[in-house]
Parts: sequence; structure tokens; C-alpha cells
Amino acid sequence: MDAFLKVRQPMLYGIRDHACKKQLRTIFSSLTLSPVKALLWYVEEREHHVSPFKQSAMIIHNLGYPRIGSQRELKKACESYWTGSISISALQEVAAGIRLQNWELQKQAGIDWIPCNDFSYYDQVLDTSLMTGAIPARYQALTAKQLSETDLLFAMARGYQWDGDDITAMEMTKWFDTNYHYIVPEFTASQDFHLFSRKVVDQFLEAKNAGYAAKPVLLGPVSFLLLGKEKEAGFNRLSLIDKLLPVYLEVLDLLTKAGATVVQLDEPCLSLNLSAEALQVLSDSYAQIHAAFPQLHIVLASYFECYGQHLPAVLALPVQTLHLDLVRCPAQLEDVLQTKIANSKLQLSLGVVDGRNIWKNDYTKSLAFIHRAIKVLGEDRIAIAPSCSLLHVPCDLDYETAISPEIKNWMAFAKQKLQELKELRDIVKGNTALLAANEDAIRNRAASGLIHRKAVKDRVAAFTLSDASRKSAFTVRQAIQQEQFDLPLFPTTTIGSFPQTDDIRQLRARLKKGELTVAQYDAAIEKATIEVIRWQEEIGLDVLVHGEFERNDMVEYFGEQLDGFLFTKNGWVQSYGSRCVKPPVIFGDVSRPADMTVRWSSFAQANTDKLMKGMLTGPVTILQWSFVRDDQPRSTTANQIAWAIRDEVVALENAGIKVIQIDEPAIREGLPLRRENWAAYLEWAVQAFRIAASGVKDETQIHTHMCYSEFNDIIKHIAAMDADVITIETSRSQMELLDAFADFKYPNEIGPGVYDIHSPRQPSAEEMISLLEKAVEALPARNLWVNPDCGLKTRKWPETKVALTNMVKAAVVMREKAAL
Ligand code: GLN
Ligand code: ZN
Repeated sequence: MDAFLKVRQPMLYGIRDHACKKQLRTIFSSLTLSPVKALLWYVEEREHHVSPFKQSAMIIHNLGYPRIGSQRELKKACESYWTGSISISALQEVAAGIRLQNWELQKQAGIDWIPCNDFSYYDQVLDTSLMTGAIPARYQALTAKQLSETDLLFAMARGYQWDGDDITAMEMTKWFDTNYHYIVPEFTASQDFHLFSRKVVDQFLEAKNAGYAAKPVLLGPVSFLLLGKEKEAGFNRLSLIDKLLPVYLEVLDLLTKAGATVVQLDEPCLSLNLSAEALQVLSDSYAQIHAAFPQLHIVLASYFECYGQHLPAVLALPVQTLHLDLVRCPAQLEDVLQTKIANSKLQLSLGVVDGRNIWKNDYTKSLAFIHRAIKVLGEDRIAIAPSCSLLHVPCDLDYETAISPEIKNWMAFAKQKLQELKELRDIVKGNTALLAANEDAIRNRAASGLIHRKAVKDRVAAFTLSDASRKSAFTVRQAIQQEQFDLPLFPTTTIGSFPQTDDIRQLRARLKKGELTVAQYDAAIEKATIEVIRWQEEIGLDVLVHGEFERNDMVEYFGEQLDGFLFTKNGWVQSYGSRCVKPPVIFGDVSRPADMTVRWSSFAQANTDKLMKGMLTGPVTILQWSFVRDDQPRSTTANQIAWAIRDEVVALENAGIKVIQIDEPAIREGLPLRRENWAAYLEWAVQAFRIAASGVKDETQIHTHMCYSEFNDIIKHIAAMDADVITIETSRSQMELLDAFADFKYPNEIGPGVYDIHSPRQPSAEEMISLLEKAVEALPARNLWVNPDCGLKTRKWPETKVALTNMVKAAVVMREKAAL
């Protein structure tokens, strides 16, 4: 009976056909029909109404457009608003301007289904928390204060310190395998959902009033729950679906009343390994949505992976269009066409244009998919689209005036990708000139002398296993290094960077503007480096670093010095909130024309008698944080970078640097979304690191560093990297992470971070000692190092001085205890 009531409400909701509603009520109230049967009956009855959307030719549509503005207008406006220098209405005006511009661009490109609600002041998952009223209790005080919806959203994303209130922000995490971050929804057992933010309806009406018949985009209910977290024990967030779905039905009702005929529901969690329970919730939810809105054209979109083992469940959903990411999963089209869908009414959205990369579409490849699908299903059952939202690519290539015209002709940003969809449709209609022009560009890229370096390819191809192995086993190396370095127990070090003060950043800006000569700039960096060396010596650190003052960013610094990379002027992509990143583009074979870090590392070593650690970024991290060429496997590009880094490692060794750290903070985030693909990735990723690290003598100590915890499931592979020392982030988890290393009996040396560098808090020696005591319980003392969690570049000097002085004290106390 309970279940019946639960199903009844949402089912009736939103059915505008009164006669039908009445009929349903009669059936429900007779109580002789189970809810499931009632649902089936209803679906059957309505079958002749399904798919009212009459499509005569191939549709082109878009899943989402970048929201930051082509000149990062939203970033600038948000940041000005946060500092109080512009009003909320000024911010709203900028936002409305961006939306309007995006819609118009898409209309100009002939997009049939132009997305709306893809705009967000911060993040679309946070928007969904607001839409469904999933606002954590700690923000209730703010609703009472009558904060505007936008201010509440910012408070949830960024925390709120004002007027006596000090409320922490919600957690943020990575959006699947992208560099976009979303705000994690928080759920409690007694979670209540209700329609709170009407943004999606407002933005649909805004588009409508401006003359665009837009397609609202919503994060689907199942992915919304799965992407969130239970904030208390004892319940499963999927069980909240019965409370959540009515809000979605209410929203869909408002949208249809406002005139929406096509709605896109994103369920990207289908790219993960889902439980049978989750799939059941998915099929129940979409059955209810369909039952309530049989006239509404639902586009179901997942991306970044194959539907894989979920395909049968997905094909059984009562949706009108199913989106396929054919860039990440080209085989999927045939899988779908092989099923019985030719007999059903399902339409397919073919995601042929890469929404995750900046390369020009290869029309010949895309057309093969399109023609194949048309042949089986007919043109009127096909839509074409980018593989995913265009949120993950920069806005407009037209601003890139400095890229060589030849390379620029191989690239496409969001605006150009819209054009590609239009051209693909025009070609299907018979415009052969467009195809010929594209073939030319693709051919030019494939054969270009700018890309191909025979020596690089030969070197990668000549790889043998010994290239990825140090000369001796770790225990042998450890003995040699211990004897040579004579370091105390619990040696202290840092992760590389020291505070990047405004003064340091100014130096780079002034050098760029020509206000400083290279000699003046170098002199200023030398001064900062010597100062940081003296200070490290003073407080008694054992292995010093040079501070990385000469570096803007740990990937950019190397990309700028390697061949095969290019940098854009305006290729910004949203990372989180107002923060944008400008990833380098790897367009060609990677090689290292000259030493990259030897100058600064040897300068630093010449200024101290202590060991100076050389500092490099590893091949997987460089790959992971760039737009990577798509004309060869990622593993091949990783290997090319690995050989370049290896040469740098050897050059450092030749220059007398005895300790060299190769940072790989991104190795874990590169893991594929599906577990079954992990092993293949880890194999080449670990091998790339080993190639980079294995060119040196046993005497040279190789460190690596990783932030972001959760190594439990990949510890075997971390160990296989065979770094002499690994420094990792552990303090936030109170050394919990070390259990994985202890259980595995991790053989090499390890520096578990003893304090969190993400906060300005100054840790005491005592708390670091107690963390180290936990570490000693888990691992042999002689293998332990003492260091912070990560680099210090985002910190200020005063807190850094206190923290590191205390850290050295903690190490000294640990040594004394060990001597007893
Ligand atoms: N060596 C880098 C630094 O200290 C490492 C940064 C990182 O792990 N993200 O800044
Ligand atoms: Zn780090």
C-alpha cells in the first residue's frame, strides 16, 4: 500500500490530459491493480502517443556550451562580485549576456536543439542540489537571513564567513575523468526534497522570450543521488529516489507547461560500474517519468565511456533519444544497431565531435558512423552531437592569433565544433566541397613535418624492458645511498615549491611585459633561491629544495621547453567555480631540445653543502593536464615525454644532483572510469614513470610525490614504480592511508605528509609527532621520511616558517625516541 501511494503521486503529477488523469485515478482507487501493472497499462494505453516529435531529417544538437564566456567574463564578474566591487544585478547582467550570446551562436550554427540550463554560476551539480532543495542544514541560518538564491549558492560552494556566521563550504571533487570539479551533494537519512530553485524554468523562459526554443538540460535523478554522499551512517542514498523523483516530475511539469518539448537528462554515472540496484532505480525512475510525460521527448545522455554491460538496461528505458559518446566508445554504435532497436522507435544521438579535446573533427570517420546509422534507422531517427558537453573545451579558436596557421587548421574549439556539426549535416545533404576541405586538413596534419620526428619515434620503438629498470634492486640501492648520504633517521625534506609571493609573480609579469631584462629577472630569482636555501639550512632541514620560484606552473614550465607542445592565449576551460585552466596542447612528437632545470638546480646545489633535490614533473602528469594529440595512443605520447624527462634526470645527475624528485600527482586521477580498464592504464603509466626514472646510477636517489589519497586499490602499482622514496598526502586522513602501505608491506622509503598544506593553520610539533608515531607503528622507522603533504607555493611565509620549524622539531624528537 505504501509503495502504491509512492508511485501514484508522481505518476499523476504532470499529466495534463484530464480525461486520462481521471481514468488513472479510477484505476488507482480501485486498488485491484498493482502499481507496476497500472504503470504498464498506462504506458501501453499511451503507446500511440509516444514520440509525438515529428522529425523529418537528421537533427543536430548540443549537450552544453561553455559558460565562462569567450573572454572569461563570468570569472571576472563573479570575482568582482565576491570582493564587493560590483552589484548582484551587474553580475546577473553579465550572466544573461553570456547565455544570450551562446544561444545566438548555436542558432547561427543551425543547432536544432539548443541547450539551456547548461549555464551555472558555479556548477551544474550544485544547481541540482538547489533545484531539489537539498540544502544542508548548516545553511538554514542563511535562508532565514533571506540571502538571495545566488548568494546561497556561493555560500554552499565557497563557505560563508560574515556577520558572526562561519559556515564551511560543501566538498568538491572531480567530475568523472575531467579536470572540472563539482560540489558534492550532501544527503541525510531524513532528507527532504522540494522544488527550491526554479532556475531551469526561468532559463527556459528566458531563452523562449529571446526567440530560442531551447532544450532544457538536467542532471538526471539517479546520477544526482550517486554523485552525492551520505552524511550519516545507516542508509543508502539511492533509497531517497522516492522522495526525489516527485521534484523532478514537478520540474518537468513546469517545463512542459512553459512549452518545452525536448528535455535532456544526463545520467553520466552510466559510465561507471553500477550495481544492479542502481540500474533498477534507473529503470523505475524513467518508467515513472515516461508514464507522467509520455508526450515529452526525453534525450538520455551519458558520456566519457561505453554503456558497456549497462547497455541492455539502458536500451530498455522508455526514452525517445539515446546519446552515444562515439569518441570514447566507437564500437558502441554497432553494439546498439545489432540489438533489436531497428524495430523500436528509439532515436540515436551520435556523439561524433570530440567534446574533450581541441582537434578538428575527421569528417570521413564521423560520416562512416552517420551513414551506417542512417542505413539501419533512417535519417529521421538520427541526431548528431558533440560526444559530451562542450564545457570541457575552450570557447573560440578565432582568438588564437599566435598559433601557426598550419597547426591552427587542425584545431577546433567549442564555437568551431558547432560549425562542424552543421557541416556534417550539409555533407550528408550533398555538399561535397566541405568534405574535400576537411580531408585536406586531416591529410595535412597526418603528414606534417611539424609533428613527426623520426628520432623520437625510433627511440620509443626501440624500448626494451631494461630501459624501465634501475640497475640494481631497491635494497642494493638503499644500502649504497644510505652509506653515501649518511642521513639521520627520519630525514626531513619538503615537496619542492616555497611560497609564490606576489613579488615573485610580479617578476614574471614584468619580464613578459619587457619591464625587466632576462638578466634582471634571473638575478631576482637567484636572490629568492639563495634566501630559501639559507633559511632551510638555518632550521635544519636535511634534503633541501630550490623553491621553484622560476616556475609558473609545474606542467607549463616543462611544456614550454619541450618540442611538440604549444600554448594558447585564450584557451581557458572551467576547472571549478571561477577558476579556469589553460592546458597546453601536445600536437607533435615530444623531444627535449635542451636542459630544462639543470641551470637552477645546479645553481642551488652550488650554494649549499647539503643535498639539493632536483625537481621534475613526471610524464603521466604532463599528459593528464594537457590536451593530448589524438592521432596515436596516449601511451605512446606518455612514452615520448618519459624519454625526454629521463634525459633531464640524467643531465641533473651529470651536473652533480644526487637526489631527484619526479612528481606524479595525477597518476591516480588518470585511472579509467571502469575498473576493467584499470590494469591496461596502470601498466603503461607505471612503465612511463620507470622509463623516466631508470637512466641513473644506483647512487642517485629518485623520489616521487603524489597528492590525493586513496591508494588502497592501486598500491601494487605504486610499489611497481620503484621510486627510492615516495612522498604522499596523508595528514588529512590522520595517516589512515598508511594502512594500505603497511598491509602491502611497501618495501621502499616513504614520506607520509605530516601536515596539511591546504590550510593556513600552523601545526604544532606535538601533533606531527603523534602522526609520526602512527607511521612508526605501520612501517619500519628506517624507511620513513618527514615532510609536508604537498608543495608550499599557495601558502604564505609566516605560517610556512612556523610549520616547518615545528616539523624539524618533531623529527628530532622522533630520532631521540628511537635512540633510547
Ligand atoms: N613539486 C611540486 C610543488 O611542490 C608538486 C606539486 C603537486 O604535487 N601538485 O609545488
Ligand atoms: Zn602534491
